[in-house]
This record gives sequence, structure tokens and C-alpha cells, in this order.
Amino acid sequence: MRLQIASGGPGRGWYIWSMSLNAHESATLQRVFGFRTLRPAQAPVIEHVLRGGDAFVLMPTGGGKSLCYQFPAVVRPGMALVISPLIALMKDQVDGLRLQGIRAAFLNSTLEDVEEREVYEAVLAGTLDLLYIAPERLFAPGNALLEQLKQRPLSLIAIDEAHCVSQWGHDFRPHYLELRALKEHFPNAPMVALTATADRLTRDDILEQLQLHRAQTFISSFDRPNIHYAVAPKRGWKDGLWSFLEAQDGASGIIYCLSRRNTEDLAAELSASGFNAVAYHAGLTADERDRRQTAFIRDEVPIIVATIAFGMGIDKSNVRFVVHADLPKNLEGYYQETGRAGRDGEPSKALLFGGAGDFARLQPFCEVDGNEEQSSLLLTKLRRMVDFAESHACRRKILLNYFGEEAPDECGNCDNCLGERTVYDATVEAQKLLSAVARLPVPYGLGHVIDILRGSTASKIPESHRALSVFGVGKDLAKHAWMDIGKELIQRGYVDQELGRFPVLKLNARSWEVLRGQTRVELTQTEPRPGPTPSRKDTPEVEGHAELFERLRALRKELADARNVPAYVILPDNSLRELSAYRPQTEDDLYQITGFGEVKVRQFGHAFLEAITAACAELGLETEMPAGRKKPTPKPRKSSRGPAATVLKTLELWRENPSIEGIAQRRKLGERTVEQHLADAVEAGALAADELLPAHRLQPVVEAWRAAPKATRREIRDRVGESFSYFEINVARAHALRAVVPEG
Ligand code: ADP
Ligand code: ZN
Repeated sequence: MRLQIASGGPGRGWYIWSMSLNAHESATLQRVFGFRTLRPAQAPVIEHVLRGGDAFVLMPTGGGKSLCYQFPAVVRPGMALVISPLIALMKDQVDGLRLQGIRAAFLNSTLEDVEEREVYEAVLAGTLDLLYIAPERLFAPGNALLEQLKQRPLSLIAIDEAHCVSQWGHDFRPHYLELRALKEHFPNAPMVALTATADRLTRDDILEQLQLHRAQTFISSFDRPNIHYAVAPKRGWKDGLWSFLEAQDGASGIIYCLSRRNTEDLAAELSASGFNAVAYHAGLTADERDRRQTAFIRDEVPIIVATIAFGMGIDKSNVRFVVHADLPKNLEGYYQETGRAGRDGEPSKALLFGGAGDFARLQPFCEVDGNEEQSSLLLTKLRRMVDFAESHACRRKILLNYFGEEAPDECGNCDNCLGERTVYDATVEAQKLLSAVARLPVPYGLGHVIDILRGSTASKIPESHRALSVFGVGKDLAKHAWMDIGKELIQRGYVDQELGRFPVLKLNARSWEVLRGQTRVELTQTEPRPGPTPSRKDTPEVEGHAELFERLRALRKELADARNVPAYVILPDNSLRELSAYRPQTEDDLYQITGFGEVKVRQFGHAFLEAITAACAELGLETEMPAGRKKPTPKPRKSSRGPAATVLKTLELWRENPSIEGIAQRRKLGERTVEQHLADAVEAGALAADELLPAHRLQPVVEAWRAAPKATRREIRDRVGESFSYFEINVARAHALRAVVPEG
């Protein structure tokens, strides 16, 4: 049987989908949910359910499963019943819906009696659009709910996390088996079963258990195009991690470690370096775990360093990165853990530190006592994981193929496709090092071998070693460079290192192949790399204004805290980015921003508009809302390699005639925009600050910035005095920032 594969996942090509929602439905999508279009994978499901059909939906995390039942629930008459096992998430989901003006409630064991009674009354009165419920609640003995539900039409029944019904799945919950009776109780309500994880066997079982004999199956691609995959060598991984985190600018992310101990140590080390990080593992008390998890979800602590115990049932959509400090044991785990990044479809990163060198360490985890078959299966899975880490081919292709999906040879959004993982031919270096090992009369450790190669003058080197032909042949490379090469040769199995008190080097069969020139050796470049190059898919649709974005993020947090909900429930990150890029000025403008439906405009519109107006005045920004009610055209992201084309154009005119007013007129831009372009040009190194400002205007502000690089522009202005314009403050900032960033 061929199943329907909907193309694209989150973040890819939503806007090209034209579908048969009627005018009223399209308006509802915009008014209530603030979405302009359905995603390609959602559209066929929603159409089918709107027409009353049963559906089985297999969609990756972040694919947008919720809308598949929430939208029909709002459009179809009657109340929708949503079965979910994740009690902890129900409240957030319901809060989120209510913030959109949707009448939602939940029933689970956390409710007080009074609250529960209110919900029952609402059910009877027919004033709810959606009711979330835990399965054990629905079928509790002596419970009249089922009978009450039959009094009124149900718009649909949604079974979230549907794999819980199957014993073949990884999260079987016996109460889910009772859901079998639902089809008999409510034969007329369409049923939607949704899950992100189900293999073939589990899939068939779900259909059988839920009696979904006539359901249409919708499987979307498991590709997560907005996730950038990268692997970095384990050696020097801390340097790599630190520079990676610095580039994340305080965004939310998860770092996975293998052991509880490691999570504690790493979190402590990160905190000591000024990162805001906490550890999370099963050894903490339930209260402590809860507290830390909530702090993470509420954006109070951006970085959580966790064992894989963390993440099950976490519904945080703006996780921007997932780092694996240790190699996961299999690709299933890797996919699931990295999948916690970027559920909102925004560019996100998955970075793994590890490779072949981790194999030996993980091997014991694959041994299941007395079960050889199981052990060898686990070992095979570990090998595939190592292959993934070591591969020079497209990571996405390997992942998707592993899960039985076709994929193009290059995705354009992983380290290998983007050429970020610089490998170089190290055959000559390897031969030098291995021949030193071969020539030494007895085995020595790496340090001594390197001393020989570099022709060390240290007195501990025996005279006989100085006489070797390899003595000093490696003078051209620094000691640490040889260390890196040596360690990687060991990791990759080109030479053996004896375990034990004296980790001496011994040649093996592969060493001899290298020495005889039968094998080329490729090693990875170890220079810390700059952040991954932005690529087509790595690029958000719009590039927001960084400082304004930060302010809006702070405002969102305030609004969320006041309502005791997670920040992303108020608005997703991409809404903030659009706000900071287009700087809407009126409520009408706001409707053009993703995520702003009617109720959110009413509730939060004023607060955001006010913040934007204030920031525009202070930062010297203007609105960039295009005329008309169409979606703003995406602006290209500023490339890190150079200034944007529009900045270059301004710069070109500046060189012809340095008049801001003149350029503004010629380019039909605001003077503020031209000034911003010039400041951008300074920041990009295309223009010197002293070409714009005389030294006596520039110097005092540059000094103020250097003294307080984290200050706001207003604070700087308070220091240097009102006579300085924000343009001067911006240029000085660009100059000061530039001067501390290394060239290149
Ligand atoms: P899943 O349950 O499949 O993991 P969600 O339902 O939580 O995914 O949706 C993930 C994110 O995508 C949410 O932030 C949601 O607001 C956003 N989203 C869903 N559908 C759309 C859409 N049609 N347009 C824009 N954003 C969407
Ligand atoms: Zn790729």
C-alpha cells in the first residue's frame, strides 16, 4: 500500500501551498490562529477532517500536529475531545488556546474540585470548543462524563501521542487500550490519531486498537529542514562548545551528556564562565527537576545540561540548539533528541561532539546480559551512529535513509553539505608520526614521539633518539598541532594506544598501510571554526533587528510571567523576529505579523506597538511595513561575509557624494535608514568610522562603548551627553564592536 507523503516539514515552502479552505475558513485561520497558510503537511489532513473523515497522522515533532485538530475543532460545530497522556502539558496547551480566544478546558488529576465542577458545567452547557482529558479520567468507574458527552455533538475526537495505545511502541500506556470503545460510543465523530513516532508495526497496531478501519493515513516527511546538523571532533570539544554557545546569544538550548556526573560538572563549568546553565537528571528530587524544567521552559535559564531523561513531554517550541556532548547510542535517540530543537520552524542547530573514539566507551552499554541477539542489535545500532558521525556525506540524507525515507544527495544545511567540516590530506604528517613510532627501539607515549618529531633539545631525550632519521622532521608544526594529529590518528584507528599506566603507541595493520603509502589519511581541521555559514535553509524568512528583538523578548517574558505561562505561549520567536524587522505601527499592521490573530492583537497589540514605537525613536529606526495588506516581502538576511546589497548601494552613493540627505532622496529612503546603512557599513568593515565622524565626535563615544559594551544606546547617550546623536552613537558602537572582533 502506498501512503500519502506530504512534502516538506516545518519551515519549508508553506507559502506555496494553495488549498481549498473556503473564504470563511481562511479568515478563521488568520483571525483565530494568526496563520496565513496551512503547512503543506497540514493541509490535506485538515481538509479531510473538516469533511468528517477519520485520520491517522504521522508527523515529526514541530510539524504542527496540534493545528490538525485544533483548527477543525474551531470550525466544526460541537466540542472536540482531545485525549492526551501528557498531563503536565495540558495546562500550557489550554492556556495557549485561551490566549487565542478559543474556549478550551482540561480535566485531569491536577484540578481542584471547584475547577472540575466548572468544567463539567461548561461541557453540559456546550460552551467549550475543546476539552483536553487524560484517558484514565474519561473511563474512570462511576464517571458520568461519558454519558454527558453523548448529550451533545462532538466536533471530533483527537488522540494525541497515539503510539501510547500500542504495546509495540516505546511508551505503551494501558489506559489507552480503553480508547478502543470510543468509536462505539461516538460513531459519528471523526477521529484523528496523531503521533511523531511509529514504525510500521506500531502504525498498524494503532489503527487496529483504535478501530480506525476507515482512516486515511497521512505521513509527512521526517525531514526537519530548519535543523542544521553538524559534528565536531571530541578532542578540544570544550573550546568548540564555548565558542558555539557564545554565538547563540542567550538563546535556549539543551546539552545532552551521558552521565549525571557530567551534567553537573559541565553545568558548573559553564556557569563559572558566565553562561546561565543548570543540570537536569533523574538523580534530582522531583521538586528540583520540576523547578529546573520550569525555569528552562519559562526562558529564565537558557541552557539546560541534561541526561536523556530530559525532554520527554517537553513542549517548548523555541529551543534553538541541541548539543550532544557525548555520542548517542543510536540514531533513533539522536533524531529524537535533536528533534527537540526548532519546533517553531525557525533555524536551529544540532551539534554533536564525538566520533569513532567514543565507540569503545559506549560498547559496554550495548551488552545485554544473557541476550546475545539483543546485544548484537544494539551494537549494530551504535556502529551506524559512529558511521553517521564519521561520514563526509550529507547528514540529513544518512538520517532520512536510516528511517527508510528517500533524500537528495545534498541538503544544503549540514556541515558536510556546506563544507564547514574542513578535512585535509594528512598522509605525510601521519607517515612522519608513524615512522617515528616504528623507529623508536621500544614503545613510547605520544608526547615523547612528538618531542622526537620536533627535534626537542630537552635533556630527557636520549642521545640515541637524537640520531634517528626522523629526529626534527616535524619542526614545521607546533606541539599542539602534532598533539591533535596524534590523537585523531589514535581515534581513527591508524595507530593503537595501549590502555593502562603507560599509554604507549603501537603500530597496527592500518599503520603499515599508511607507512607503505597504500592509504590516504584525512583528518579534520581543528582550528575553532566560526559559526556555521548561513545558508539558504538556515536563513530565517526575515532578519530582525537584534536589539529590538531582545527588547520584545523581554516584553514577552513580562507578559508571560504576569499570566504564569511560558513565553512561547504568548508569541513564537518568529513573530518577534517579524515584529523587529517590520516594526508595525498600527493594529492593522499587526495582523500581517505571523501569530497575531484577533485576540492576541487585542490583548497584547498595544504593549508591543508601544514598545516598538519607543524603540524606534530611541534606536533611530523606522517602520518597514510594506504598503497594502500583503505579507511583507522577506528581506535577505545580512550575510556574515559582508554587508547587504542595500548597504553597499548606500555606500557607493556616499563615496560619490557624502550627503545623507542626498542619498535618502536618491534612494527614496528615510534619512534614518541611510544612517543605519552607514553604521552597518562600518560594522562590516567596509567603511572607516572616521570617514563619517571627526575624531572629537567619535572618540568619546567609542570610549563609552568600550567601558560598557552591554549598555543600551540610551545609557551611552546619558554618559556622553545629549549633544551626541543616535547616529553618532551607532557609528561609534559599530567601530568599537569591530575593533574588538578579530579581523578575517
Ligand atoms: P507538533 O505538535 O507536531 O510538535 P506543534 O503543533 O506544537 O507541533 O507546532 C509547532 C509550531 O509550529 C508551533 O509553534 C506552531 O505555532 C507552529 N505552527 C503550526 N502550524 C503553523 C502554520 N500553519 N503556520 C505557522 N506556524 C505554524
Ligand atoms: Zn546535508
